[in-house]
Amino acid sequence: MKPVLFNFTDAELSEFVTARGLPKFRATQIREWLGRGAPDFASMKNLPETLRRDLDDAAQTLPCKIVRRLDSGDGETTKFLLEMQDGEQIECVLMRTTYGNSVCVSSQAGCAMGCRFCASTLLGLKRNLTANEIFAQVLVAQWELRRNRADKTNVRPNGDANNGDVSHIVIMGTGEPLQNTENVIDFIERANKDLGIGWRRITVSTCGIVPGIRRLIEWGRPINLAISLHAPTDELRGQIMPINNKYKLGEVLAAADDFTNLHNRQLMIEYILLGRKNSDGETELYNATEEHAEKLATLLHGKNCMVNLIPWNAVDERDFASPSGNAVHRFQDTLIRRGIHTRIRRERGTDIGSACGQLRLNNAKKNEK
Ligand code: SAH
Repeated sequence: MKPVLFNFTDAELSEFVTARGLPKFRATQIREWLGRGAPDFASMKNLPETLRRDLDDAAQTLPCKIVRRLDSGDGETTKFLLEMQDGEQIECVLMRTTYGNSVCVSSQAGCAMGCRFCASTLLGLKRNLTANEIFAQVLVAQWELRRNRADKTNVRPNGDANNGDVSHIVIMGTGEPLQNTENVIDFIERANKDLGIGWRRITVSTCGIVPGIRRLIEWGRPINLAISLHAPTDELRGQIMPINNKYKLGEVLAAADDFTNLHNRQLMIEYILLGRKNSDGETELYNATEEHAEKLATLLHGKNCMVNLIPWNAVDERDFASPSGNAVHRFQDTLIRRGIHTRIRRERGTDIGSACGQLRLNNAKKNEK
């Protein structure tokens, strides 16, 4: 396996360079390119061409390689399928929005949580990602944005395209970040320090691992916390999210309250709206009736929170259906009437299978055949 220079300390990089008979300043040049996310040595334009070729034979820049990329038709979303050195594949998604450029990163290869509606967990957990592997996902997106700016590609419909670097990070890709908490913390510290991304522009999304939330409180950085709630009662939640059998709703929300009170932040609540096909082929609401909305409003009453309603992104292997637009709006109306801040998550990149874990899963299926 080729060494990954991004994983090297400055001293190691310097040693690598001098061992090849090169002057020390080459290490500084290479480090600069690595920090910008150069995918290969061929991109390192201030190195002599023969050296670039030599280095490409001898080493790898980032700990991951792009194996597939998909662009949505509207030019707003780019999804990358990345392969780690050990062959594990993960996904990250770049979303170009009116408020900036957001990257959704994965924290694990696969997931052990077993949520019944999700594609990411279907093949189980393979392993945690290192802080470098999470960081590299942001660099892949950053490199892409800068390349787009230079080439004037992926221009958004309103024309104000790609005028900045990555401004927001959401740790909402494959995996449960609070099962890999120390690496995630390490990654966030570096994203803040090295890329200048503000704490308040970084969001960790969890299915509700209480000790992990407590660890974030102890850590003390004012990032955003999102809780994947998806049901207003322990009974229903337990049926779709096995983790609820370990950490009950009340306990999860109490920990989340402690986090948001500490930082005076608004808590984000994620709520997927699920339906199910009955024997007549009609969609019945599963967790998305007005009664569920009323219960959710009661549960969240008085909290400083924002509910993101997410119409379910269909996953073939999963026995759910997406509710109608009307049902989604009725659910939202009930929450608003009860004084709960709510918005419907705009679906991005549905034409490129942007629901969690779909690309990775489809690729794994293809490789099996
Ligand atoms: N494990 C973390 C982060 C990864 S999942 C968590 O549970 O929050 C990121 C979000 O996408 C979660 O809210 C998750 O429930 C949701 N999600 C998973 N599968 C989905 C699907 N098919 N359609 C819509 N949202 C989905």
